[in-house]
Amino acid sequence: MKCNIEYIGKSRQGITKYYCTVHKSFAYDKLGNKLNKCLCKDKEIYDNKLNIKENNIKSIKIIYENIIENVIPKIIINDSIFNGTLEYDDCILTYKDLGGILLSKLNDLPLELVKCNHCKRYHSDNGKFAYTPHSTHLCLYCGRLFRVKEKNIGSELAMIFDIPKIKLKDKTLKINDCCYIEYDILKGILLINNESPNKVIFKDKEVDITEFLNNILENEF
Ligand SMILES: [Zn+2]
Ligand SMILES: [Zn+2]
Ligand SMILES: [Zn+2]
Repeated sequence: MKCNIEYIGKSRQGITKYYCTVHKSFAYDKLGNKLNKCLCKDKEIYDNKLNIKENNIKSIKIIYENIIENVIPKIIINDSIFNGTLEYDDCILTYKDLGGILLSKLNDLPLELVKCNHCKRYHSDNGKFAYTPHSTHLCLYCGRLFRVKEKNIGSELAMIFDIPKIKLKDKTLKINDCCYIEYDILKGILLINNESPNKVIFKDKEVDITEFLNNILENEF
């Protein structure tokens, strides 16, 4: 799909800002010049859509083959790999939004219905915003900031699925070079190298699994 780039106003520094509403990404350079193509690095995922309301979705999983080296997960729907976006109504969800759910649930934070004041579409948080409740949200559909009264975290997937808490065992697992992560969103099962420990030892340091994954995925928004 081709970019659809719109002018969305100026930054505080007076730089003109442009936004691509197709690929949910900014489309301007440091000087405020409009780019021909937006900054989205994986535009092809927007060509393949799966409507999650019209299809019978029994299982949604994400798998990070080795999260230490690659923070882009595979999406597995009903046991098949799906390389695209999950959609319903006017919500468009990517692997980043699914990673956001992993973080919010791991941090045991409520996921709320958050709506952009400008374009009226709903909001999903990912990366560090998925575990840091905030009152100024960046809408990824229109590229504008909007404010809510109480700090919160948004999720569009949580509006149609009941997403359970993640249950972990009181256990410490040593991680060497490979850290395989499999998260079954609708079951609340998180596997780290095929176990469910609540702590890991990584580079000779013991850390809570929440802190470990928060740090690795903080910039994935
Ligand atoms: Zn674009
Ligand atoms: Zn918006
Ligand atoms: Zn937000």
